[in-house]
Amino acid sequence: MSILYLVIPCYNEEEVLPETVKRLTIKLHSLVTSGKVSADSRMLFVDDGSKDKTWELIEQFISENKYVGGIKLSRNRGHQNALLAGLMTAKEKCDCAISLDADLQDDIEVLDQFVDKYKEGCEVVYGVRSSREKDTAFKRGTAQFYYKFMKALGVDIVYNHADYRLMGKRALEALSNYKEVNLFLRGIVPLIGFRSDYVYYERNERFAGESKYPLKKMIRFAVDGITSFSVKPLKIISNLGIISCSLSVIFLIYALVSFFMGSSVAGWASQMCSIWFLGGLQMFCIGIVGTYVGKIYSEVKSRPRFIIDKTVMDKKEEAPAKDKE
Ligand code: UDP
Ligand code: MG
Repeated sequence: MSILYLVIPCYNEEEVLPETVKRLTIKLHSLVTSGKVSADSRMLFVDDGSKDKTWELIEQFISENKYVGGIKLSRNRGHQNALLAGLMTAKEKCDCAISLDADLQDDIEVLDQFVDKYKEGCEVVYGVRSSREKDTAFKRGTAQFYYKFMKALGVDIVYNHADYRLMGKRALEALSNYKEVNLFLRGIVPLIGFRSDYVYYERNERFAGESKYPLKKMIRFAVDGITSFSVKPLKIISNLGIISCSLSVIFLIYALVSFFMGSSVAGWASQMCSIWFLGGLQMFCIGIVGTYVGKIYSEVKSRPRFIIDKTVMDKKEEAPAKDKE
């Protein structure tokens, strides 16, 4: 039977942890008793350098609850890094891992569906919010704009999916080959590939404590998402330069016409043209430099160039489907 790890990053979550542990224990226990997952399944709490009693609480739960495990990061490294630390630790011990938030905003009632899809052979299962009614209009609007913008820049992300997702062992192994420092997991996971599916859920409100994602962090995260996955902004500079250079030709004609008609102040024509032409030329040159920088950037990342799902040499030799029971 497959071992499931629930990976839960926590940053100053002392207010929500007792309730989270209580509810997740009931849920995990029901999954175990119904024979869906192995009794070796665990909840793995990752303390992301909390300043409150989060780690003391986790230690206490470890001593009294057989389903609880924990890791403590040396300092606060942010949600994505904490999540990765948890997933990489879980990878060694589990068959599949589901990441979710400590505040139970991700509806835990759909955990069964994640496991069912995994058993059907999916290596990645994305939790997708079925609606955003509970969000403020601002958050809803900006989120929608962001997804569209990312799409336009050629970044493949799953619409309305955050970090509530299941990953099988092989997907986790593949993830460990992505060595980038600026982590944006929801952008990386679709790159991994493998068979995947979706589970729809209603996102609840945080039941205690406050969000650990203030606007400033959210913006930084959004910018990270773009700059870690797309070099298009660099290409846009080149294009702007070309447009500006072409415009300078139009200006040149316009300026010459005005000059010969005697309707312009002396020096105006030459200045207008050089401003547009030199400005454009500079942008174009920065764009060229940018193209090289973009190449260096993707080389430095040294992402894996391919991930093999199956190797079939001969009918009989087909690599055995992984044993999920
Ligand atoms: N979190 C973390 N490190 C941080 C910030 C947040 O591990 O530096 C965790 C937090 O404990 C929670 C999850 O990331 O489990 C999502 O954070 P939060 O609920 O505050 O974000 P929101 O749901 O408001 O976007
Ligand atoms: Mg939350």
